[in-house]
Amino acid sequence: MVSLRSDEPRLLFEAPTRKRVPVLLPRPFRGPFDYAVAPGQEPAPGDVVMVPLNRREEVGIVWDGVADNGVGDNKLRPITAVLDVLPMPAALRKFVDWVAAYTLAMPGEVLAMALRIPAMLPETPPVGWRLKPGASASTAARAKVAAALADGVARTTSDLARAAGVSAGVVRGMGQAGLLEPALLLSRPPFDRPDAARVGPTLSADQAAAGQSLRDAVTARAFGVTLLDGVTGSGKTEVYLEAVAACLEAGRQALVLLPEIALSSQWLERFERRFGVAPAVWHSDLGSRTRRVTWRAVAEGTAPVVVGARSALFLPFPDLGLIVVDEEHETAFKQEDGVVYHARDMAVVRARLSDAPAVLVSATPSLETLANVEAGRYGQVTLQARHGGASLPAVEAIDLREFPPERGRFLSPRLIAAVEETFARGEQAMLFLNRRGYAPLTLCRHCGHRMQCPNCTAWLVEHRVRRTLACHHCGHNEPIPPTCPSCEAPHSLVPIGPGVERITEEAEAVFADARRLVMASDTLTGPNAAAEAAHRIEQREVDLIIGTQIVAKGWHFPHLTLVGVVDADLGLAGGDLRAAERTVQLLHQVAGRAGRAEAPGRVLLQTFSPEHPVMQALIEGDLAGFMATEAEIRRPGGWPPYGRLAALIISADTAVAADELARDVGRMAPRGDGVTVLGPAPAPFAILRGRHRRRLLLKTRRDVAVQPILREWLTHVRATGTARIDVDVDPVSFL
Ligand code: ADP
Ligand code: ZN
Repeated sequence: MVSLRSDEPRLLFEAPTRKRVPVLLPRPFRGPFDYAVAPGQEPAPGDVVMVPLNRREEVGIVWDGVADNGVGDNKLRPITAVLDVLPMPAALRKFVDWVAAYTLAMPGEVLAMALRIPAMLPETPPVGWRLKPGASASTAARAKVAAALADGVARTTSDLARAAGVSAGVVRGMGQAGLLEPALLLSRPPFDRPDAARVGPTLSADQAAAGQSLRDAVTARAFGVTLLDGVTGSGKTEVYLEAVAACLEAGRQALVLLPEIALSSQWLERFERRFGVAPAVWHSDLGSRTRRVTWRAVAEGTAPVVVGARSALFLPFPDLGLIVVDEEHETAFKQEDGVVYHARDMAVVRARLSDAPAVLVSATPSLETLANVEAGRYGQVTLQARHGGASLPAVEAIDLREFPPERGRFLSPRLIAAVEETFARGEQAMLFLNRRGYAPLTLCRHCGHRMQCPNCTAWLVEHRVRRTLACHHCGHNEPIPPTCPSCEAPHSLVPIGPGVERITEEAEAVFADARRLVMASDTLTGPNAAAEAAHRIEQREVDLIIGTQIVAKGWHFPHLTLVGVVDADLGLAGGDLRAAERTVQLLHQVAGRAGRAEAPGRVLLQTFSPEHPVMQALIEGDLAGFMATEAEIRRPGGWPPYGRLAALIISADTAVAADELARDVGRMAPRGDGVTVLGPAPAPFAILRGRHRRRLLLKTRRDVAVQPILREWLTHVRATGTARIDVDVDPVSFL
């Protein structure tokens, strides 16, 4: 074999003309396809091209690397056109490849998340009307239109009719009569530049030091990860906005990821106070026009700051200088459908590929992030105290065995008394229960029959307001039957256990005079509902807030001083790897809503096991100690973050097909040093949306990568018919 080393003379070789290039299409294909370059075309990686696929034309991206899929030159089909639009930046192309390789998704599927075809194609410039020089208006209505155009600025028909107070017909008539002439509308950049020079709040010494170290990370223009942790209400947002300011000063773009953008009205207001303008917002519910305008502004570099949900990672930033992941511990950052990825982890990768720093922010950091800090891979800055001298709330348990609620009720007399004392002081209280609906279970008191979803291994949840039984997994809905479907006893179905609707009903009876507000995902519908609710609370139009996990999110309500957790044991029941960690994080976040201003806060946890380490950690306020213990529990068995996991979820239309495939997959399970396979076993949701599900779990030592093992494993098994195998690397859910 002839070897060609770079130091050998290359005189014999002409630079080859690039005859073929790889093109990645946004479809579930394993990689790019080759296309021939037509004369006169000079496609470079990142260029947007039209290519034939079967009998259609598709938009694709010229990909990196060498084209070679074994198709002879003469068989290649040519690129139809190289589009005159902005190319996809190299960092984003690398990111697409990286995410695909890490998650075992097809590169084309990942590319589909990064392509916005309507937004990329050239836009027809918008046209409006201008007054034709020398034209004179013959009627009063036409004179009004002429007056509205006197400033010389072109306007659309509808804008003009509105400004002049006439019908659109008048405007159109003037156009036909030649009194108006078409003119390009002036386009203004859609996003104003945030003003980094505006003076922000005066930072405390601690905050200033933390802010400075984040600023330094930004000006270094190099990759690095910093954990910004600090107690709830310590002003972490103000601190990382310093890093955003430094990024603006450096002329680069900043991305802030929030777990639930719909619940972030207070965040947006705060950003505007700091920088004078609103940031660009990105999430999956944007209208098509806003989406197009935002995508283009990001690509052109005229959206200096983007705040978004996890999908914002796939925007085409030409010069990304900072990524902040706020509430980094939140499981909402894990995308479970389609391409299964964790946005916090992928944000770190995105930052690395862009030579930019990443900042992970939380009052309750994940064990993954803490382990990275401990190993020296991530830096850390900490805020020790609440802003403005506010103290952390006092957390106490109410032992439900000692102080039980009245029969059929769920609020202990102790909690009721504390709420009443809070009202008496003119302060606000909150009741938290992380469960939607009226009751999680409905059963027949005659025969014991339980109302179950026909499509899922799950109980139906009563929603009394909507008068239905609903499945929270597949959306199945049915009216509450008048008789038991099993024994036909009339009126025998009874609700078991509380949901937030049932607590609301109890609160109506117990706190009849209090002004109540329910915050749950099914009561706060519409884009502005959460913002309105927040305003009502800030304006003290509400005494009692009753809510699900929505109330745990970053809110700052200065007059809220009491938080009652109706069922603190709730999250511990599932028993997965992170159940304790997640419960501590969630309850600590809810607790953190209390006493954020001058008046001190108090938190009451209703529990049957006050001695449980989770309750003790919350009462002692010793999260660090709890996480250290949690680390010692996971380390010996090599559980994450001290080992790696990947789940295979096998599903099929029938139990037999699912079992058959699961057995095949189990039989081909990899073996080796530091590699363990658990399962196959029925998934906890053994049936979900009508599909039968089995799970296997691959567990490896931290120094063993799971991807090559999975890839090799999957080459030995084939899903046929309706069966399929889904891969979840670093699973968060074990259901
Ligand atoms: P965290 O995110 O750490 O829970 P926040 O950033 O929400 O805390 O800050 C809590 C409250 O204190 C917010 O209303 C914030 O505007 C305010 N705050 C924080 N730092 C300052 C400061 N230096 N000056 C004025 N207000 C501040
Ligand atoms: Zn269901």
